[in-house]
Amino acid sequence: MSAEPTDEDCIFCRIVAGEIPSRTVHETDTVLAFLDANPLAPGHTLVVPKAHHETLADTPEDVASDVLTALYELTPTVERAVDADASNVAFNNGSAAGQEVPHLHGHIVPRFEGDGGNPIHALVGSRPDLSDEELDDIAEGISAELEA
Ligand code: AMP
Ligand code: ZN
Repeated sequence: MSAEPTDEDCIFCRIVAGEIPSRTVHETDTVLAFLDANPLAPGHTLVVPKAHHETLADTPEDVASDVLTALYELTPTVERAVDADASNVAFNNGSAAGQEVPHLHGHIVPRFEGDGGNPIHALVGSRPDLSDEELDDIAEGISAELEA
């Protein structure tokens, strides 16, 4: 089933099950999209897999692909619907990154010229000062992990 696994204590699983109301804007066999209840901007939309997976690393590739397809389709649609100039599309991927609801969700946050908001570069408090050697090591480490 497309909504397996589920977690009865998870607020997004309960939305998928219809136990908690949502302003749903899009639904497929595997994905649900609904308005954020505490929006950062008009049209702030969440895209979730119907099944309970916490982070991208926990999510099967086909389900993650369906979430990304929905984000791809919805982002320009949401922007048009609220007459936005742009949007930030992002995941808080894990609690250390600020994820509060432990059920994978992509945010579409519409942005407007002069809205006073920030780019994704404002996510961290301070940037690390990395040498060329450290950057080379990091790049090699990522490539090695991919091949492992
Ligand atoms: P995150 O910090 O990435 O886990 O974001 C969780 C998001 O879920 C927040 O933006 C909340 O406003 C939103 N949220 C929490 N409960 C609900 C709900 N019942 N319906 C819609 N959005 C919700
Ligand atoms: Zn869940």
